[in-house]
Amino acid sequence: MKKRIMIDLDDVIVDQSGWIKVINDYLNSNHTIDDVKGYYIQDLVPEEKMNEYTKYFITQNIYDYCNLNKNCYEVLKELNEVYDVYICSAYVYKDDVSFSAKFLEHKFNFLYKNLPFLDPKKFIFSDDKKVIECDIKIDDKIDNLENANTKILFTCYHNKKISDEKLEENDVIRVYSWDDIKKILL
Ligand SMILES: [Mg+2]
Repeated sequence: MKKRIMIDLDDVIVDQSGWIKVINDYLNSNHTIDDVKGYYIQDLVPEEKMNEYTKYFITQNIYDYCNLNKNCYEVLKELNEVYDVYICSAYVYKDDVSFSAKFLEHKFNFLYKNLPFLDPKKFIFSDDKKVIECDIKIDDKIDNLENANTKILFTCYHNKKISDEKLEENDVIRVYSWDDIKKILL
């Protein structure tokens, strides 16, 4: 039996360019990902503009502007030959929960169109990834790696500062790229 591997979409398969573009279009700004201080990219929007921004955001599809991370396509394709690959993505949009079904549609369509070798029956949409048990998990959020034998943290803007000690304590391996994933899993 093939080993089961669960891979996150945002900040692992794709980069943050969609989020940043929509914010910059709205604010008429030139923010980059380095300006983001916490986890939520939309915190770049001043609080007094947040309601109006959310109304704008739900008319957009960030996945029209997201890029696949470097070598993701090739490595994922190879992984898919060796492992039972599931993609798991959270889809509840916290600033307007009623947008979530549409958000899920955008995510599904992005995966379906851009990674055609993946089995859409193995797309999972859930904000609670802990309940899913897998041999291997790859995510940019440490909590989402629970319930896996091999836990792989994909480095991105919000998790850079997590110490090696903390990663070791939680049995987590840090990777910086899809080439690192290839080295570990293939
Ligand atoms: Mg993510």
